Amino acid sequence: MVWTIKMDEKKNNQEEKESIEEKAPQKTTEEEKGKEMEEEQGKEDAEAEEIVEVPEEENSGFVRVSEEWKPRSRLGKAVATGKIRDINIILDNGMKILEAEIIDQLLPNLDSELLLVGQSKGKFGGGQRRVFKQTQKKTNEGNKPKFSTIVIIGNHNGIIGIGKGKSKETVPAREKATRNAKLNIIKIVRGCGSWECGCGEPHSLPFKVSGKVGSSKITLIPAPKGTGLIVEPEIAKILKMAGIKDAWSRTEGQTKTKTNMIYACFEALKELTRMKINPQLKREISITEGSITEESEKEAVEE
Ligand SMILES: [Zn+2]
Repeated sequence: MVWTIKMDEKKNNQEEKESIEEKAPQKTTEEEKGKEMEEEQGKEDAEAEEIVEVPEEENSGFVRVSEEWKPRSRLGKAVATGKIRDINIILDNGMKILEAEIIDQLLPNLDSELLLVGQSKGKFGGGQRRVFKQTQKKTNEGNKPKFSTIVIIGNHNGIIGIGKGKSKETVPAREKATRNAKLNIIKIVRGCGSWECGCGEPHSLPFKVSGKVGSSKITLIPAPKGTGLIVEPEIAKILKMAGIKDAWSRTEGQTKTKTNMIYACFEALKELTRMKINPQLKREISITEGSITEESEKEAVEE
């Protein structure tokens, strides 16, 4: 019982931290470093108690593109000099994004969220999901923990990215994951693919689609307007970030392995963009690719 209470307290703290974070998302690198060291000490304490959870850190993972950014890739240079100002040009032409700053520059207001991939040990309160997965490596100096996490970024409007990060500390693990997510951005195809609905708005998926990673398989199914996301919580976070409001899902295989299921969902969403859809059907089920802007809405009406 003690364990459970402790966990709840921690959870509350975490929520508090998150709300503070929302108010003041900007931190300087200096501050971050300080926090990181503080956190390191805090973690040592936590380890002594064998509590695996590590509170979510400050810092939304976003650093505004600074003037010090010296682009190394050709695409980076094109973006830094303002030759490319539209993310669609990059995504539609399948250009490879090698620098996270490209995304900072073109999509400065992306949201980010950690997905729960870890699991706490423990007799009673164990089994709860954590944002960091901790692994131990036994060495001569003792146990060396490593933290891994998955970050999902997106604009809630047709664009998401997902990335993994692993490090000895939680903050760098999250930073790595965020950076990787920025290099792994995709456009989402939305639509109203539910026969019961037919409302003509892209609130769901255009059709049923599956993705598979390892033995984990997920099928995302269009749902009528107002259904909500009747899917697992982590999958819901991904769909929400993508701007999909209504969907059902069916999962098969090793569903315990959250990481595989998360990536299977990402694969399914990717699959949507690969499908060739004839223009008539496209209109019928209101297919929209990428972000919906006022302009794109006007175009749709004109069509
Ligand atoms: Zn609909």
